[in-house]
Amino acid sequence: MHHIDIPSGELNEFDLPAICIVTGERQGVVFKPVNFSWYPRWIGFLALLNLLIAIIVASVMTKRVTGTLPFTEEAWSRWKRGQVIMAVSVLAAIALLILAFCLLASDAPEWQGLVALASSVAIPVLAWVFFLRGRGPKVRRIDPDNISLAIPNGPAAHAITGHFLAGLKSPARDDGESLDANEAPAHALCARHDDSVANQVCTRCGAFMCPRCENRVRRESLPLCPGCWELRGHTIAVQAKAPGLTLANSGLFMGVISVIPMCYAVHVVSLVLNTVSLVRNRHPDSPRIDRKKAIAGLALTGIGLLLTLGMRLYSGRW
Ligand SMILES: [Zn+2]
Ligand SMILES: [Zn+2]
Repeated sequence: MHHIDIPSGELNEFDLPAICIVTGERQGVVFKPVNFSWYPRWIGFLALLNLLIAIIVASVMTKRVTGTLPFTEEAWSRWKRGQVIMAVSVLAAIALLILAFCLLASDAPEWQGLVALASSVAIPVLAWVFFLRGRGPKVRRIDPDNISLAIPNGPAAHAITGHFLAGLKSPARDDGESLDANEAPAHALCARHDDSVANQVCTRCGAFMCPRCENRVRRESLPLCPGCWELRGHTIAVQAKAPGLTLANSGLFMGVISVIPMCYAVHVVSLVLNTVSLVRNRHPDSPRIDRKKAIAGLALTGIGLLLTLGMRLYSGRW
Protein backbone atom coordinates (compact mmCIF):
# COMPACT_ATOMS: atom_id res chain seq x y z
CA MET A 1 0.00 0.00 0.00
CA HIS A 2 1.20 3.50 -0.82
CA HIS A 3 0.64 6.60 1.21
CA ILE A 4 -1.06 9.76 -0.10
CA ASP A 5 -2.11 12.95 1.66
CA ILE A 6 -5.12 14.66 0.13
CA PRO A 7 -5.71 18.27 1.24
CA SER A 8 -9.14 18.50 2.87
CA GLY A 9 -11.87 19.49 0.44
CA GLU A 10 -9.95 18.02 -2.50
CA LEU A 11 -11.28 14.47 -2.38
CA ASN A 12 -13.26 14.96 -5.60
CA GLU A 13 -13.15 14.68 -9.38
CA PHE A 14 -12.19 18.33 -9.84
CA ASP A 15 -9.05 18.29 -7.75
CA LEU A 16 -7.76 14.73 -8.31
CA PRO A 17 -6.18 13.35 -11.50
CA ALA A 18 -8.12 10.64 -13.36
CA ILE A 19 -5.87 7.67 -12.57
CA CYS A 20 -7.22 4.45 -11.06
CA ILE A 21 -5.94 4.15 -7.48
CA VAL A 22 -6.05 0.33 -7.68
CA THR A 23 -4.59 -0.44 -11.11
CA GLY A 24 -2.88 2.81 -12.11
CA GLU A 25 -4.79 2.85 -15.43
CA ARG A 26 -5.68 6.19 -16.99
CA GLN A 27 -8.24 4.90 -19.49
CA GLY A 28 -11.88 4.37 -18.54
CA VAL A 29 -11.52 5.99 -15.13
CA VAL A 30 -14.65 7.06 -13.28
CA PHE A 31 -14.96 8.86 -9.98
CA LYS A 32 -16.84 6.78 -7.41
CA PRO A 33 -18.30 7.86 -4.08
CA VAL A 34 -16.26 6.96 -1.00
CA ASN A 35 -16.58 7.78 2.65
CA PHE A 36 -13.99 7.38 5.34
CA SER A 37 -14.22 7.64 9.09
CA TRP A 38 -11.34 7.65 11.51
CA TYR A 39 -10.71 8.09 15.22
CA PRO A 40 -7.42 8.06 17.14
CA ARG A 41 -6.36 4.48 17.87
CA TRP A 42 -5.80 5.07 21.61
CA ILE A 43 -9.60 5.05 22.01
CA GLY A 44 -9.38 1.29 21.48
CA PHE A 45 -7.49 0.98 24.76
CA LEU A 46 -10.23 2.95 26.55
CA ALA A 47 -12.63 0.17 25.57
CA LEU A 48 -10.62 -2.18 27.79
CA LEU A 49 -11.31 0.10 30.75
CA ASN A 50 -14.89 1.12 30.09
CA LEU A 51 -16.91 0.42 26.98
CA LEU A 52 -19.44 3.20 27.59
CA ILE A 53 -16.74 5.85 27.97
CA ALA A 54 -14.95 4.51 24.88
CA ILE A 55 -18.16 4.79 22.83
CA ILE A 56 -18.72 8.38 24.00
CA VAL A 57 -15.14 9.41 23.26
CA ALA A 58 -15.15 7.63 19.88
CA SER A 59 -18.38 9.33 18.79
CA VAL A 60 -16.96 12.71 19.83
CA MET A 61 -13.58 12.15 18.19
CA THR A 62 -14.60 10.32 15.02
CA LYS A 63 -14.02 12.36 11.88
CA ARG A 64 -15.82 11.64 8.64
CA VAL A 65 -14.98 12.58 5.09
CA THR A 66 -17.04 11.92 1.99
CA GLY A 67 -15.93 12.47 -1.57
CA THR A 68 -15.03 10.66 -4.77
CA LEU A 69 -11.95 8.71 -5.85
CA PRO A 70 -10.87 7.55 -9.32
CA PHE A 71 -11.36 3.85 -10.18
CA THR A 72 -11.79 1.81 -13.31
CA GLU A 73 -15.23 0.17 -13.35
CA GLU A 74 -13.60 -3.24 -12.97
CA ALA A 75 -11.43 -2.27 -9.99
CA TRP A 76 -14.40 -0.59 -8.32
CA SER A 77 -16.69 -3.63 -8.65
CA ARG A 78 -13.87 -5.92 -7.46
CA TRP A 79 -13.43 -3.80 -4.33
CA LYS A 80 -17.19 -3.62 -3.69
CA ARG A 81 -17.47 -7.40 -4.17
CA GLY A 82 -14.62 -7.89 -1.70
CA GLN A 83 -16.45 -5.78 0.87
CA VAL A 84 -19.65 -7.81 0.46
CA ILE A 85 -17.77 -11.12 0.75
CA MET A 86 -15.98 -9.80 3.85
CA ALA A 87 -19.28 -8.76 5.49
CA VAL A 88 -20.87 -12.15 4.73
CA SER A 89 -17.83 -14.02 6.07
CA VAL A 90 -17.90 -12.00 9.30
CA LEU A 91 -21.56 -12.92 9.78
CA ALA A 92 -20.72 -16.57 9.06
CA ALA A 93 -17.86 -16.39 11.57
CA ILE A 94 -20.20 -15.07 14.29
CA ALA A 95 -22.66 -17.90 13.59
CA LEU A 96 -19.84 -20.47 13.71
CA LEU A 97 -18.53 -18.99 16.95
CA ILE A 98 -21.94 -19.34 18.61
CA LEU A 99 -22.19 -22.90 17.27
CA ALA A 100 -18.70 -23.69 18.59
CA PHE A 101 -19.58 -22.44 22.08
CA CYS A 102 -22.75 -24.51 22.09
CA LEU A 103 -20.87 -27.65 21.05
CA LEU A 104 -17.94 -27.13 23.42
CA ALA A 105 -19.90 -25.96 26.47
CA SER A 106 -22.02 -29.08 26.69
CA ASP A 107 -21.25 -31.82 29.22
CA ALA A 108 -19.66 -33.98 26.55
CA PRO A 109 -17.77 -31.55 24.28
CA GLU A 110 -17.93 -32.57 20.63
CA TRP A 111 -14.89 -32.42 18.35
CA GLN A 112 -17.00 -30.59 15.75
CA GLY A 113 -16.89 -27.65 18.13
CA LEU A 114 -13.15 -27.25 17.57
CA VAL A 115 -13.66 -27.35 13.80
CA ALA A 116 -16.33 -24.65 14.06
CA LEU A 117 -14.06 -22.54 16.30
CA ALA A 118 -11.13 -22.86 13.88
CA SER A 119 -13.25 -22.02 10.84
CA SER A 120 -14.78 -19.00 12.57
CA VAL A 121 -11.25 -17.56 12.69
CA ALA A 122 -10.07 -18.88 9.32
CA ILE A 123 -13.03 -17.75 7.17
CA PRO A 124 -12.71 -13.98 7.72
CA VAL A 125 -8.92 -14.12 7.45
CA LEU A 126 -9.12 -16.01 4.13
CA ALA A 127 -11.85 -13.69 2.85
CA TRP A 128 -9.65 -10.71 3.63
CA VAL A 129 -6.55 -12.21 2.03
CA PHE A 130 -8.24 -13.37 -1.17
CA PHE A 131 -10.96 -10.79 -1.75
CA LEU A 132 -10.21 -7.53 0.04
CA ARG A 133 -6.47 -7.07 0.60
CA GLY A 134 -5.00 -4.53 -1.81
CA ARG A 135 -8.33 -4.01 -3.56
CA GLY A 136 -9.15 -0.51 -2.37
CA PRO A 137 -8.17 2.54 -0.35
CA LYS A 138 -7.73 2.56 3.42
CA VAL A 139 -7.90 5.59 5.68
CA ARG A 140 -4.81 6.22 7.82
CA ARG A 141 -5.69 9.52 9.46
CA ILE A 142 -8.07 12.46 9.14
CA ASP A 143 -7.07 15.86 10.49
CA PRO A 144 -8.34 19.37 9.71
CA ASP A 145 -5.87 19.92 6.85
CA ASN A 146 -5.47 16.49 5.30
CA ILE A 147 -6.93 13.09 4.80
CA SER A 148 -4.20 10.44 4.69
CA LEU A 149 -4.97 7.33 2.66
CA ALA A 150 -3.15 4.16 1.71
CA ILE A 151 -3.87 3.11 -1.87
CA PRO A 152 -2.81 -0.10 -3.64
CA ASN A 153 -1.09 1.42 -6.70
CA GLY A 154 2.34 3.08 -6.44
CA PRO A 155 2.36 5.04 -9.74
CA ALA A 156 -1.14 6.36 -8.94
CA ALA A 157 0.07 7.54 -5.51
CA HIS A 158 3.00 9.28 -7.20
CA ALA A 159 0.73 10.89 -9.82
CA ILE A 160 -1.75 12.13 -7.21
CA THR A 161 0.96 13.59 -4.97
CA GLY A 162 2.54 15.31 -7.97
CA HIS A 163 -0.83 16.64 -9.12
CA PHE A 164 -1.34 18.64 -5.94
CA LEU A 165 1.84 20.60 -6.65
CA ALA A 166 1.55 20.67 -10.45
CA GLY A 167 0.44 24.32 -10.49
CA LEU A 168 3.90 25.38 -9.35
CA LYS A 169 5.48 23.99 -12.50
CA SER A 170 3.55 26.20 -14.92
CA PRO A 171 4.88 29.73 -14.52
CA ALA A 172 2.61 32.56 -15.55
CA ARG A 173 3.26 33.63 -19.11
CA ASP A 174 2.10 36.80 -20.72
CA ASP A 175 3.23 36.37 -24.27
CA GLY A 176 1.64 32.97 -24.96
CA GLU A 177 4.70 31.98 -26.98
CA SER A 178 6.44 29.44 -24.82
CA LEU A 179 3.67 26.92 -24.42
CA ASP A 180 4.34 23.25 -24.86
CA ALA A 181 2.20 20.65 -26.58
CA ASN A 182 0.19 19.83 -23.45
CA GLU A 183 -0.96 23.37 -22.92
CA ALA A 184 -2.57 26.05 -24.99
CA PRO A 185 -1.09 26.51 -28.46
CA ALA A 186 0.62 29.80 -29.11
CA HIS A 187 -1.75 32.73 -29.63
CA ALA A 188 -4.89 30.73 -28.76
CA LEU A 189 -7.48 33.06 -27.36
CA CYS A 190 -9.24 32.73 -24.03
CA ALA A 191 -12.59 30.99 -24.35
CA ARG A 192 -14.31 33.83 -22.47
CA HIS A 193 -12.25 36.86 -23.39
CA ASP A 194 -11.48 37.09 -27.09
CA ASP A 195 -9.18 40.03 -26.45
CA SER A 196 -6.87 37.94 -24.24
CA VAL A 197 -4.29 35.34 -25.19
CA ALA A 198 -4.78 32.06 -23.33
CA ASN A 199 -1.86 30.87 -21.25
CA GLN A 200 -3.51 27.94 -19.48
CA VAL A 201 -5.73 24.99 -20.30
CA CYS A 202 -8.45 23.90 -17.87
CA THR A 203 -7.28 20.63 -16.29
CA ARG A 204 -10.79 19.24 -16.41
CA CYS A 205 -12.43 20.27 -19.70
CA GLY A 206 -9.50 21.54 -21.73
CA ALA A 207 -10.90 25.05 -22.30
CA PHE A 208 -8.31 27.77 -23.05
CA MET A 209 -8.15 30.50 -20.48
CA CYS A 210 -6.38 33.72 -19.71
CA PRO A 211 -4.96 34.62 -16.27
CA ARG A 212 -8.22 36.44 -15.41
CA CYS A 213 -10.17 33.18 -15.79
CA GLU A 214 -7.94 30.97 -13.64
CA ASN A 215 -9.41 29.51 -10.47
CA ARG A 216 -7.24 27.54 -8.07
CA VAL A 217 -8.02 25.69 -4.86
CA ARG A 218 -4.53 26.43 -3.60
CA ARG A 219 -1.66 28.39 -5.09
CA GLU A 220 0.11 25.14 -5.99
CA SER A 221 -2.84 23.46 -7.71
CA LEU A 222 -3.67 23.45 -11.40
CA PRO A 223 -6.22 26.01 -12.60
CA LEU A 224 -9.86 25.34 -13.50
CA CYS A 225 -11.89 27.40 -15.97
CA PRO A 226 -14.82 29.49 -14.61
CA GLY A 227 -17.38 26.90 -15.82
CA CYS A 228 -15.68 23.95 -14.13
CA TRP A 229 -15.06 26.06 -11.02
CA GLU A 230 -18.76 26.81 -10.67
CA LEU A 231 -19.65 23.14 -11.21
CA ARG A 232 -17.06 22.17 -8.59
CA GLY A 233 -18.69 24.49 -6.06
CA HIS A 234 -22.15 22.96 -6.66
CA THR A 235 -20.90 19.37 -6.59
CA ILE A 236 -18.97 19.81 -3.36
CA ALA A 237 -21.92 21.57 -1.70
CA VAL A 238 -24.13 18.55 -2.54
CA GLN A 239 -21.49 16.09 -1.27
CA ALA A 240 -21.05 18.02 1.97
CA LYS A 241 -24.79 17.97 2.64
CA ALA A 242 -24.88 14.26 3.49
CA PRO A 243 -25.27 14.75 7.26
CA GLY A 244 -24.81 11.26 8.68
CA LEU A 245 -24.03 10.67 12.32
CA THR A 246 -22.64 14.01 13.42
CA LEU A 247 -21.88 14.91 17.01
CA ALA A 248 -24.87 17.28 17.12
CA ASN A 249 -27.21 14.60 15.75
CA SER A 250 -26.08 11.88 18.14
CA GLY A 251 -26.30 14.39 21.01
CA LEU A 252 -29.87 15.26 20.08
CA PHE A 253 -30.74 11.56 19.73
CA MET A 254 -29.37 10.80 23.20
CA GLY A 255 -31.22 13.88 24.49
CA VAL A 256 -34.54 12.54 23.21
CA ILE A 257 -33.93 9.16 24.87
CA SER A 258 -32.82 10.77 28.13
CA VAL A 259 -36.30 12.21 28.69
CA ILE A 260 -37.03 8.75 30.06
CA PRO A 261 -36.37 9.04 33.81
CA MET A 262 -34.00 6.78 35.77
CA CYS A 263 -31.77 5.94 32.76
CA TYR A 264 -28.62 7.26 34.43
CA ALA A 265 -26.16 5.95 31.83
CA VAL A 266 -28.12 7.65 29.04
CA HIS A 267 -28.27 10.90 31.02
CA VAL A 268 -24.50 10.89 31.49
CA VAL A 269 -23.82 10.14 27.81
CA SER A 270 -26.28 12.83 26.69
CA LEU A 271 -24.80 15.46 29.04
CA VAL A 272 -21.26 14.72 27.84
CA LEU A 273 -22.12 14.63 24.11
CA ASN A 274 -24.26 17.78 24.16
CA THR A 275 -21.84 19.75 26.31
CA VAL A 276 -18.94 18.87 23.98
CA SER A 277 -21.14 19.70 20.97
CA LEU A 278 -22.09 23.06 22.48
CA VAL A 279 -18.46 23.91 23.27
CA ARG A 280 -17.38 22.94 19.76
CA ASN A 281 -20.13 24.98 18.11
CA ARG A 282 -19.74 28.04 20.34
CA HIS A 283 -18.10 30.15 17.61
CA PRO A 284 -20.50 32.48 15.80
CA ASP A 285 -19.50 31.05 12.40
CA SER A 286 -20.30 27.43 13.30
CA PRO A 287 -23.70 26.10 12.17
CA ARG A 288 -26.53 27.56 14.26
CA ILE A 289 -28.60 24.43 13.79
CA ASP A 290 -25.92 22.36 15.56
CA ARG A 291 -25.88 24.81 18.47
CA LYS A 292 -29.66 24.56 18.73
CA LYS A 293 -29.49 20.76 18.66
CA ALA A 294 -26.99 20.76 21.54
CA ILE A 295 -29.13 23.14 23.61
CA ALA A 296 -32.24 21.06 22.87
CA GLY A 297 -30.33 17.91 23.87
CA LEU A 298 -29.30 19.49 27.18
CA ALA A 299 -32.83 20.77 27.83
CA LEU A 300 -34.30 17.31 27.19
CA THR A 301 -31.74 15.75 29.51
CA GLY A 302 -32.70 18.35 32.11
CA ILE A 303 -36.35 17.28 31.81
CA GLY A 304 -35.29 13.64 32.21
CA LEU A 305 -33.28 14.49 35.31
CA LEU A 306 -36.17 16.51 36.81
CA LEU A 307 -38.54 13.61 36.16
CA THR A 308 -36.04 11.27 37.81
CA LEU A 309 -35.82 13.58 40.83
CA GLY A 310 -39.61 13.84 40.96
CA MET A 311 -40.04 10.08 40.87
CA ARG A 312 -37.44 9.62 43.59
CA LEU A 313 -39.14 12.14 45.88
CA TYR A 314 -42.55 10.70 45.11
CA SER A 315 -41.52 7.12 45.82
CA GLY A 316 -39.60 8.27 48.91
CA ARG A 317 -42.66 9.97 50.40
CA TRP A 318 -45.00 7.05 49.84
ZN1 LIG B 1 -13.02 23.61 -17.47
ZN1 LIG C 1 -10.33 34.81 -19.78
